[in-house]
Amino acid sequence: MDAQLRRHIEVHLPNYLEGLKRLCRQPSVAAQSHGVHECAELVRQMLQDLSFRAQVLPTRDPRYPVVYAERAGRSPRTLLFYNHFDVQPAEPLELWESPPFEPQERDGRVFARGVSDDKGHLAARLAALEALLTVQGDLPCTVKFCIEGAEEIGSPGFAEFVEEHRDLLKADVCVWEGGSVDWRGDPEIALGLKGILYVELEVRSASRDSHSSYATVVPNPAWRLVWALSTLKDQQERVLIPGFYDAVRPPTALEREAVAKMPADDEQLKQELGVKRFLKGLRGQDYLQRHLFEPTCTICGMESGYTGEGTKTVLPATARAKVDFRLVPHQRPEDILEKLKAHLAARGFSDVTVKAADGENPSRTAMDSPFVELVRKTAREVFGREPVLVPTSAGSGPMYCISEGLGLPIASFGVGSPTDKIHAPNENVQVANFLKGVLHVAELLVQFGKG
Ligand SMILES: [Zn+2]
Repeated sequence: MDAQLRRHIEVHLPNYLEGLKRLCRQPSVAAQSHGVHECAELVRQMLQDLSFRAQVLPTRDPRYPVVYAERAGRSPRTLLFYNHFDVQPAEPLELWESPPFEPQERDGRVFARGVSDDKGHLAARLAALEALLTVQGDLPCTVKFCIEGAEEIGSPGFAEFVEEHRDLLKADVCVWEGGSVDWRGDPEIALGLKGILYVELEVRSASRDSHSSYATVVPNPAWRLVWALSTLKDQQERVLIPGFYDAVRPPTALEREAVAKMPADDEQLKQELGVKRFLKGLRGQDYLQRHLFEPTCTICGMESGYTGEGTKTVLPATARAKVDFRLVPHQRPEDILEKLKAHLAARGFSDVTVKAADGENPSRTAMDSPFVELVRKTAREVFGREPVLVPTSAGSGPMYCISEGLGLPIASFGVGSPTDKIHAPNENVQVANFLKGVLHVAELLVQFGKG
């Protein structure tokens, strides 16, 4: 890496951390509509300060705007950054050691809600751009940003936004939000996400709750729902909806090999979560392959009747459950939804109503894409360690609309670590990782610009 560029970044680290803290001081909780527009404006301003043409654009839902920005570089080759400026709710507040929207630095970490997910990644990218502009006078390639404000609530309207702004978002490659080092400190480069279908099931069997003595004759919606749910999956963890696995394409040889090289973090995860034994006794490679490549069916929550203190002999009138399905290529949420409805009807559960939120398709970038090789090479140079290629994360996000919709290879890498406590109290980012993240982005832009 160019010594002057590296020195500039190292010397200006305090300024870059100040930029990160500035972002974190502005709450932006999409779920609570708290500060989202103010944060969009702040992000726009920070990009404009770097001489980007930056604007706040509406999506179909006026609550969740997108910040779009671009600046031409020496090379017409264009790199698109996808980030999100919204954060998870900070609750439960009493578990924070310092207030979630008052960033505090201690023990080599900065603590604040969103400081890792996703403001740390965004601030590191802005920092790399500042360094390149100051040291080199311009950017090595054309850079675009698409920064959404509702990622943490499932990106409503974002796929449509991308579709409607195809020309604006035109690029050659995309760098995704998120990314971290693994438990050993090796940088991870993730190339895909699972899709998701999220449904709410409801049974309503009477107009009001009744005395539980009527259980002799009045149908119980809680039982109906439990019976319906029990038909979705067996105790060997196989989803029983007919056709559920039809569209699943098995992982490619390259994807399997990449996972075989990943360190299995099952022991750390078990300890972190307080779980004695994983499903089916899975360990090591078997755990990893299943975790990354298998679709899921999960009861996320259930609600019916009385669960308060003491006894209440009541026969509830309604029962509800929320269920999510994490999907793998080439499953489609709308297809799985149809199959779920058909399955419930066929099994005699036409009294179970199904309401679905916007789904997301799974996405994977080919492991042998030249862009992936460039990200890997530059990571190796900056971290001085061999990066770990992750064919897909187990999580979901709106990647498909950019990978398939715009036809871009996508790599995800960033400033996080497994101990960042994202989505939880005391979210933090390690200053050392943040610095490496800035260096990596700067070096990637330099080498990408050279073509
Ligand atoms: Zn998140």
